[in-house]
Amino acid sequence: MTQPSLPRPSIAIVGYGSQGRAHALNLRDSGFDVTVGLRPGGPTEAKAKADGFSVKSPAEAVKSADLVAVLTPDMVQKKLYDEVLAPNLKQGACLLFAHGLNVHFGMISPRDDLDVVLVAPKGPGALVRREYEIGRGVPCIYAIHQDRSGKAKDLALSYADGLGGARANLIETTFKEETETDLFGEQAVLCGGASSLVQAGFEVLVEAGYQPEIAYYEVLHELKLIVDLFYEGGITRMLEFVSETAQYGDYVSGPRVIDAATKERMREVLKDIQDGTFTKNWVAEYEAGLPNYKKYKQADLEHPIEVVGKQLRAKMVWLDNSPKEQKEAA
Ligand code: NAD
Ligand code: MG
Ligand code: MG
Ligand code: MG
Ligand code: MG
Repeated sequence: MTQPSLPRPSIAIVGYGSQGRAHALNLRDSGFDVTVGLRPGGPTEAKAKADGFSVKSPAEAVKSADLVAVLTPDMVQKKLYDEVLAPNLKQGACLLFAHGLNVHFGMISPRDDLDVVLVAPKGPGALVRREYEIGRGVPCIYAIHQDRSGKAKDLALSYADGLGGARANLIETTFKEETETDLFGEQAVLCGGASSLVQAGFEVLVEAGYQPEIAYYEVLHELKLIVDLFYEGGITRMLEFVSETAQYGDYVSGPRVIDAATKERMREVLKDIQDGTFTKNWVAEYEAGLPNYKKYKQADLEHPIEVVGKQLRAKMVWLDNSPKEQKEAA
């Protein structure tokens, strides 16, 4: 199934969340020797054991591994690297990340003897696992930061291949490109942009006197139909499926909402990402105990669209609204 000419490193996966679990299961099914490194008594230890993995402390797990995948939350990686990985990784091992943030912005400066690579599937862990199980894969991007062995690229390709990524598509990138575009995408378009657009549309309708239930369907619920069409065939396919009236409205009103000034502000967001301002602020926020993060999150959770949405979704019997852990394990 996997390419025989590529190296077959022994692998330690540190972290068993969204990505960690999917990587560990796919790599094991692809024939790799996989050990999972987790804090004893940590929240995902039982899950990794139930999946049949040999679970060790992060320090023990990485000592003998040829390749160590760092799949903990981004904000704990620096401490993990400094206290556990740097003193225990074997000479000449390969250190692998699924997001370039810590290396690109210099929070982690990997030891000189290590290969340092990135393999990032373009999808959440649950999809990485599900696609693999049905014989397909999620596209992966990969990058090389440091190549001491001369085999860093083959190691990244072997790992991506074991994840199932080679069945879909592999694209080479750099730590800089992956980090900056990933942050921009989630901030300007995917998470930040899309949720703000939906909230603003909802507020405009409700403030104009329309029923919140109707507003919810129009600006949030139906977004799925549009995004599914984007996913299947781009904006071309969306235009094929919506009415002529919807198309004409798109052409004349879309650019009134997202205009040159919006694009200029997107460039400011990108600049803050590129020059490190965003990361500096995020690290400071994390170290201060997340005071603003918690406040912003609470405001989102209490937004009127969440209140009405909860009531309406209770009647949508077809929805899978199982808890995150359960959904990811499915
Ligand atoms: P997650 O929050 O789902 O899981 C984190 C795991 O790390 C958990 O098992 C947790 O118990 C463990 N952990 C936390 N602190 C630890 C510590 N100090 N030592 C050892 N283990 C610890 O994380 P995730 O979303 O899978 O993200 C992991 C990496 O993958 C990040 O770099 C992220 O940017 C990247 N990534 C995530 C996605 C995604 O869709 N979630 C997609 C691509 C890349
Ligand atoms: Mg991303
Ligand atoms: Mg991201
Ligand atoms: Mg938001
Ligand atoms: Mg348009």
